[in-house]
Amino acid sequence: MRRAALLATALLVLLGAGFAVFALRPEPAAPTLSPAAAPHPRLAEVRRTMEGYGPLTAEVARTAGGDSLVVGHPENAADVAVLAAELPAAVDAVTAVWGPGWPRTAVLAVAESPAEFAGLIRATGPVSAEMAAAAVADPFRPGSTPTGQRVVFSPDAGRRLGPDGLAALLRHELTHVAARAVTSDAAPQWVLEGFADYTAHRARPAAFAAVAPTLTAALRAGAGPTDLPADADFRGPDAVQAYERAWSVQAYIAAGFGADAVPRLYRRLAAGPQDAGSEDAALRAELGIGRAELVAGWLGWIAEQSGAGGPVG
Ligand SMILES: [Zn+2]
Repeated sequence: MRRAALLATALLVLLGAGFAVFALRPEPAAPTLSPAAAPHPRLAEVRRTMEGYGPLTAEVARTAGGDSLVVGHPENAADVAVLAAELPAAVDAVTAVWGPGWPRTAVLAVAESPAEFAGLIRATGPVSAEMAAAAVADPFRPGSTPTGQRVVFSPDAGRRLGPDGLAALLRHELTHVAARAVTSDAAPQWVLEGFADYTAHRARPAAFAAVAPTLTAALRAGAGPTDLPADADFRGPDAVQAYERAWSVQAYIAAGFGADAVPRLYRRLAAGPQDAGSEDAALRAELGIGRAELVAGWLGWIAEQSGAGGPVG
């Protein structure tokens, strides 16, 4: 398609030199795709949707598995550049936790409007203005290799989060991409989102209070959690704290049981819906303790961390 478009443009230019009528016709704005991005085999997956929202800009980033692609529009070229620059390290950060068993390439799209964002994530209903990014894939059978995976960023994600926040969000979403093949959307959110945030923050360790400010404030006010966050907590007004709680569970597991325990437990819990009983069995198999012990240990650890505020991994 790209070659055909180039030929058509060349033809118009040639004809325009000879016939004034062509010079009067407004030419479509030339896409600012880099020479490396234009022939990328996966460009078409997002191009069909995105071209309707204006000219495209795209960059290719060399990541561990090959060429990754970042597509946006001239209006958000700065976010495209930040994401392209961060991609290789982000892929490596995810691989460091998950292992090399994923494509280690990605297609990223930066939407220019809420409507384009909704189209790119294939939303079937209203999209929360709070949503900064989402990872989507074609429907697939468990056990098969997911296709059509892409990470989509909202128009204001870069402005709201800044470059470091955007990079952390990229690592979070890439974790969903890496783990997609063994992940059911019906699995507990504390597992799926906690694992993605754990990977996002592990690459750049920071103080507990910096990673989990609202949880820290709640703990210091004596209003901390009493149980693992429920799925509904991730959609309500306290969604930010639910993510922080979920992250802190994984950080506690890494600190108490070793970093390898985190992806092992994820593989066991992410395959489908869990109830308290099946969570208990999975925890006993991977960590040697039951759910009640995990919750008690986690609550003690976050109480300590929120007071000390020391570095965590
Ligand atoms: Zn997520």
